[in-house]
Amino acid sequence: MNELALIERIAKLAGKPRSEVLVGIGDDCAIYRPKSGEDLLFTTDQMIEGVHFFPNAKPRTIGERALARSLSDIAAMGASPRFCLVTLALPANRTGPWATSFFRGLLALAARAGTTLAGGDVAHNDTIHIDVMVCGAAPKGKALRRDGARSGDKIYVSGRLGRPWETKINPRLSLGQSLLGRATACMDLSDGLSIDLHRMCLASKLAARLDSVPLYKGASLERALHGGEDYELLFTLPKKLKPPRGCFEIGEMIKDVPGRLEMAGRKIRPEGYSHFQ
Ligand SMILES: [Mg+2]
Repeated sequence: MNELALIERIAKLAGKPRSEVLVGIGDDCAIYRPKSGEDLLFTTDQMIEGVHFFPNAKPRTIGERALARSLSDIAAMGASPRFCLVTLALPANRTGPWATSFFRGLLALAARAGTTLAGGDVAHNDTIHIDVMVCGAAPKGKALRRDGARSGDKIYVSGRLGRPWETKINPRLSLGQSLLGRATACMDLSDGLSIDLHRMCLASKLAARLDSVPLYKGASLERALHGGEDYELLFTLPKKLKPPRGCFEIGEMIKDVPGRLEMAGRKIRPEGYSHFQ
């Protein structure tokens, strides 16, 4: 299938974009008209064959996951997703049913999350390379960040940690939005609790004491601390605030060497997933 035919098929699958997207697939650029009183947030996330997934993984799952990872970043900042752009490099033998299934997975999640595909780019390559950019919006000045935690704040996660790769990602969009104006810091767990909490501590110039970590069925504490791909939210709340239902308190932000983590009196090294290592 040639490039033009592939783009036409993607446009057909994507359907009409939501109303703020004035121009979607088909022109040189997409046009988005933001509402007043909003900040726009942008994130991009890659999935590369052999690095993030095996070549024989189901295309529908890969498509869904590629968008879910970016939506998780949007959720982490309390934003709602407005549109996405998808850049895709594919071998020629993947432009047919493979690409259709890929976009069906991606677009089904986009519809559930109330967002739309507004454009992108396709190219030929020996292996599959995917990049999904999502634009989200949050009330002006209110987006959740990593750098606002205060000493004495309690630390929470939105679910059990240490899940295996194949489990579905449910981007915590409504939870993130419910934390606006409440959480002092928030981020999503993509690389592992130890390294992600370390990053939040560094951003907030604090240390953290962990009391307990809720384990996913069958997961070890080691995996829950250092394994990646959880895509739960990690956030801090002032002591006096009640956490949302279903979230687990895991510790407290404390004054100490910035970035330092401890659990049961022992120092924990930030050892989650890191590229180039
Ligand atoms: Mg993130």
